[in-house]
Amino acid sequence: MIFDGHNDLLTRLWLSSAEDPVHDFIHGSLPGHLDLKRCRQVGWTGGLFSIFLPPYAYLQKNYPEKLLDPSSSDFSAQQIIDICCAQLVFAQQLHVRSEGQIQICTSAQQIKTCQQNQQLAIVLHLEGAEVLECDPDVLDVFYEQGLRSIGPLWNRKSLFGDGLNASFPHSPDTGAGLTVQGKALVRKCAEKNMLIDVSHMNERAFWDTLALIDQPIVATHSNAHALCPQARNLTDQQLQGIQESQGMVGVNFDVAFLRRDGQRNTQTSLDIIIDHLDYLIEHLGEDHVGFGSDFDGSLLPDDLSDVSQMPALIERMQQRHFSDQLIEKISSKNWINVLSRILKS
Ligand SMILES: [Zn+2]
Repeated sequence: MIFDGHNDLLTRLWLSSAEDPVHDFIHGSLPGHLDLKRCRQVGWTGGLFSIFLPPYAYLQKNYPEKLLDPSSSDFSAQQIIDICCAQLVFAQQLHVRSEGQIQICTSAQQIKTCQQNQQLAIVLHLEGAEVLECDPDVLDVFYEQGLRSIGPLWNRKSLFGDGLNASFPHSPDTGAGLTVQGKALVRKCAEKNMLIDVSHMNERAFWDTLALIDQPIVATHSNAHALCPQARNLTDQQLQGIQESQGMVGVNFDVAFLRRDGQRNTQTSLDIIIDHLDYLIEHLGEDHVGFGSDFDGSLLPDDLSDVSQMPALIERMQQRHFSDQLIEKISSKNWINVLSRILKS
């Protein structure tokens, strides 16, 4: 069984030009890394599903039909709210239209129940908090609808802090930390027993977050900076901070976060993923490492081109002498444990 720290399916559903992508996900096949059939085949039982505002320039270039006025230079506040609400609605449609096969979970116990019943478990995650800049009440509304995880910052600068937009190679120290509003947001989300994701934080915001909250610190989809000096990856000092909080890191399968040369080259051996797992286990302990695939938002190695290839990775872990018990922890147990310590049941 696999539970996965990060994917961008909801954003892909929103971007899709298919007539009914929700139907295709549940009943047919959907181009991309995930659909229900392939998830079932390999025992991928769910994970954190991101609600994400893609960069404006990216939409202008690749999906102009998604913008009200592609000639303008940025989103309107209403557009940002609409885009995030549309992705939340996709999650709800997946639940409603799957006749119970897909559930939105708000506790570790609900995820375990889904795993027992062979249902797909969605834990809703907000990646970047620009929508809360437009209307702070969205947090409470989304929480009511099941949101239980937030990455307060993404790569761009916002009201809540500087982004993490750096060339390769680069240290994660790319600017100022959390703003006053960013700190208030982190505190508020921690009080609501939400997971606070530090994956897209620069180093100062990371340490600001550690100083603010008592709960386990989680990087849902980041790797080891010592093996791939990408600003999004974690230095040994950051790993120590996560370890002291009894937190968790999910290994990202994107080649640019894995490879020592940072190249976007899909001819990348699965061994590099194992190397990151090994390194993180050495620094965090075997109870604090999992997967954070970034499916549907990443450039994957050729041998792990979608979720159906997960058995190849597990097999490689076995060949590299990971015990069955350790594979179980990395594949699912560690995530369920950390979520059971953060989320209210
Ligand atoms: Zn991300």
